[in-house]
Amino acid sequence: MSHDLDLTTEQQKLADQVREFADEVVAPAAYEYDTKRELPYGIIAEMGRMGLFGLPFSPEYGGQGKTYVELCLAVEQLARVDQSIAVTLEAGVGLGTMPIYRRGTEEQKQRWVPPLARGEALAGFGLTEAEAGSDAAGTQTTARLENGEWVINGTKQFITNSGSEITSLVTVTAVTGEETRVDGSVKKELTAILVPAGTPGFTVGPAYDKVGWHTSDTHPLTFEDVRVPEENLLGERGRGFANFIQSLDEGRVAFAALCTGAAQGCLEEAIRYAKKRQVFGRAIGDNQHIAFMIARMQARTHSARLATYDAAHRIVAGKPFKMQASLAKMISSEAAMANAHDAAQIWGGYGFLNENAVARHYRDAKVLEIGEGTTEVQLMIIARELGFGAAA
Ligand SMILES: Cc1cc2nc3c(=O)[nH]c(=O)nc-3n(C[C@H](O)[C@H](O)[C@H](O)COP(=O)(O)OP(=O)(O)OC[C@H]3O[C@@H](n4cnc5c(N)ncnc54)[C@H](O)[C@@H]3O)c2cc1C
Repeated sequence: MSHDLDLTTEQQKLADQVREFADEVVAPAAYEYDTKRELPYGIIAEMGRMGLFGLPFSPEYGGQGKTYVELCLAVEQLARVDQSIAVTLEAGVGLGTMPIYRRGTEEQKQRWVPPLARGEALAGFGLTEAEAGSDAAGTQTTARLENGEWVINGTKQFITNSGSEITSLVTVTAVTGEETRVDGSVKKELTAILVPAGTPGFTVGPAYDKVGWHTSDTHPLTFEDVRVPEENLLGERGRGFANFIQSLDEGRVAFAALCTGAAQGCLEEAIRYAKKRQVFGRAIGDNQHIAFMIARMQARTHSARLATYDAAHRIVAGKPFKMQASLAKMISSEAAMANAHDAAQIWGGYGFLNENAVARHYRDAKVLEIGEGTTEVQLMIIARELGFGAAA
């Protein structure tokens, strides 16, 4: 039983189909690709053929015409067995394609979205820099208009899906000027710009040596006098900050689905092992301590799932969801981290062997509390939503 939610028959069918694919195709290959630290392009292509990269986009742009809920269901099922594959989908759709789909011109949408929605290409979203992580307003990358072109200079770091063999573009945030507020203070004008892969001056640095998420593609990026046409502006000039905040709010709900899936995967592995492993003449799960650990894992997973789908349903219903997205991200990432810890403990020495999924979840889970806004950033957002203006 993987779902505690009222899903439509179609949604349940999709979740079941992705679950089967995750168990039969993704899980058996996970250790090999994790060790090789390679994105399995064949699996990505298969996910593309299944329509997973196009779930929330309209058929007009190569999508499946579904909603954010379906995207969450797919991400959750994949994350049960392989977080790297799940984040390739989550970041690809939520950060790579969604901003273009939501705010692109008709021409930008026609050009970029269909191959992304079919999983034939991947896109990244480059916001983080050395001096701009939690405090994204610290962006130092600049873009200036010169003879009808943006000239971009700066660096980005930790950008998912930015250097794969099929990456078609990265959207970057850059300072395009300064605005003077009514009170006289000066604020950076941030703008989002589309940079196609292979543009001269755009260099993808070597993949990071990460603790986990080994098969997910993450790179530092350098921009040296990178020139792209003025039409590559995404959305409005100077709205980059507001727009990316919106993208992150939405993205973090799919990220919460990833965390929920990871929590569920650890729970399933713990149950399986606790029923099978005999110590002192009985299954370890027959010890109340172990059974209670697993009961807690179930409680955490259930809370994570409810918080996630509450936020996802609010997106679909067009209701405000900022607070719910942060709650879901925080609750589910903490659930995944705690479940990964407990699952590894229940597996004993075998939980420390990379060939076992619990060991991979243990390494992978830490980043869930960091990516797409750290736990502290979620607390800041929740506190602000509760009226504590100076919470940051
Ligand atoms: C594998 C991976 C993939 C990523 N993918 C992307 C991507 O695709 N695109 C992208 O733009 N970024 C990406 N990131 C970057 C990620 O979003 C940032 O790492 C994250 O936002 C934190 O920023 P930072 O690392 O600079 O930490 P910092 O901002 O330097 O924070 C350090 C610590 O201080 C805490 N902290 C900061 N300010 C406060 C405060 N006011 N009060 C209390 N605590 C505070 C933070 O919570 C954190 O614990 C990725 C990161 C990783 C590791």
